[in-house]
Amino acid sequence: MSEEKSLNFIEEIISQDLASGKYESILTRFPPEPNGYLHIGHAKSICLNFGLAKYFGGATNLRFDDTNPAKEDIEYVDSIKADVKWLGFEWVKECYASDYFDQLYAFAVQLIEKGLAYVDDSTAEEIAQQKGTPTVPGTGNAFRNRSIEENLTLFAAMKAGEFADGAKVLRAKIDLASPNMHMRDPLLYRIKRAHHHRTGDDWCIYPMYDFAHGQSDSIENITHSICTLEFIPHRALYDWGIEQLGIYPSKQYEFARLNMTYTVMSKRKLLQLVEEGHVESWDDPRMPTISGMRRRGYTADSIRDFCERIGIAKRENIIDLSLLEFCVREHLNKIAQRRMVVTNPIKLVITNFDKGEEILQSENNPEDPNGGTREVPFSNELWIEREDFMEEPTKKYFRLGPGLSVRLKSAYIVTCESFEKDAAGNITTVYATYNSDSKSGQDTSGIHVKGTLHWVSAKHAIPVELKEYDRLFSVEDLSNADGDFKDYINPNSLKTVNAYAEPALAKDALDAHFQFLRKGYFYQDTNSTKDKLIFNRTVTLKDTWAKEQKK
Ligand code: ATP
Ligand code: MG
Repeated sequence: MSEEKSLNFIEEIISQDLASGKYESILTRFPPEPNGYLHIGHAKSICLNFGLAKYFGGATNLRFDDTNPAKEDIEYVDSIKADVKWLGFEWVKECYASDYFDQLYAFAVQLIEKGLAYVDDSTAEEIAQQKGTPTVPGTGNAFRNRSIEENLTLFAAMKAGEFADGAKVLRAKIDLASPNMHMRDPLLYRIKRAHHHRTGDDWCIYPMYDFAHGQSDSIENITHSICTLEFIPHRALYDWGIEQLGIYPSKQYEFARLNMTYTVMSKRKLLQLVEEGHVESWDDPRMPTISGMRRRGYTADSIRDFCERIGIAKRENIIDLSLLEFCVREHLNKIAQRRMVVTNPIKLVITNFDKGEEILQSENNPEDPNGGTREVPFSNELWIEREDFMEEPTKKYFRLGPGLSVRLKSAYIVTCESFEKDAAGNITTVYATYNSDSKSGQDTSGIHVKGTLHWVSAKHAIPVELKEYDRLFSVEDLSNADGDFKDYINPNSLKTVNAYAEPALAKDALDAHFQFLRKGYFYQDTNSTKDKLIFNRTVTLKDTWAKEQKK
């Protein structure tokens, strides 16, 4: 533990709990329901739960909250494990709420035996109606007065499959007048014939969230059970279950969930985007999923850094997506390999380069003294960007134009002599001469130029495809937008661009992060092959988008 760190409110509580001797060490858990892929909001929860354990020398369980068989799947379990590991965390135990089904059933029987639970034959509508409203107490029904024996018999029959789905439920018998609606005889078990990805068809009754979550925490001896604010009203029930069953006193603490601009953060909505084809898959690089961000080229370091920077709050708020992008840029600037790629090419012919070609060295990363260099072939025919040439240059144009000189990155200073146009008036070729004394790193020419251009040798260039992404949605705060969230999908969130790249890219490691000079950070896509290299733009070099908005 470092002394200087200022503690957030949960760290404060834990620190006191340890100092007072209440616990010798802490055990937290990350409890995803395996009904979708994890998103950046889950990353926040992962960093918090695993981070607390790390900081205080405790441990964290990974618990699959798999009590809702219809929506859950092994594919999701596998993806969740991969994502947590990729973020850099290790769990001590891999747990499943479904492993506790026998125990949970026994707990329910215990409650019945104490007169604290009953079987109710009412329909869902009747139950909702009898519950009253926050200002009107509930009324209850005759089933509430069933005897313990009858309840035990009926609950066993529910388990044995003697009733149709939805015909009966088991409810806690607490207080129909409670100001907290969650305490008005909440449901504990429902009948549902659905194949479970782990327990198969063993069960036709399944516990509700409120009769699985706290109990699972207790079974695992979780000390601090951390969840999001919407569970505040569930806390009384969480404590009630633990108290009535006399089991391990886990404690629930709540923090504000992460909301982010220009995206949605609900597995249900993300699933719709996938199923309805608005995106390619769960790991589409535009998705706010951890797998999408990984595929796009975000690093685990930058996501952890982001979660650390936003801290934890007790009130709902919305975090600017550009803060996440800032964290990504910060990290990639340090680790990305620099490469040259030209997207909208015109030919630059160097008329006095008699050698024909030369192999130059270019630094891989100016931020990394140990980054080394790579070979870049130079020749008398290069590709440069169309926008780096101006037929009639304006005053402060420091790129190429008739009579103007620039440095070609890691190569020579060249001076434009003339140019050619096609019939339509488009520039096709620019002619220049180079100064042989101006080689980068050993420049004795004495010439000073203001602009440096990236370039690619035409005969060595390899074709690549770039995927340039923009925000998935076109409004900032979707929670305040009227109508269907899908009405706000940005139709221009993906642009595919063909480009010429320097040949080193074909040889580079698949998992390397790149900065394409003057273009942005890029990462090889999972669909990229040797014959067709595809790169995802992870993030632009600067936050040009935020600037646009301020104009
Ligand atoms: P979703 O609504 O996206 O399905 P969820 O809360 O139902 O999310 P779970 O799988 O139940 O998803 O969540 C696992 C853990 O992650 C829970 O402890 C939950 O509180 C936390 N979590 C989910 N979304 C966020 C978020 N946006 N910010 C912080 N924590 C979150
Ligand atoms: Mg949930």
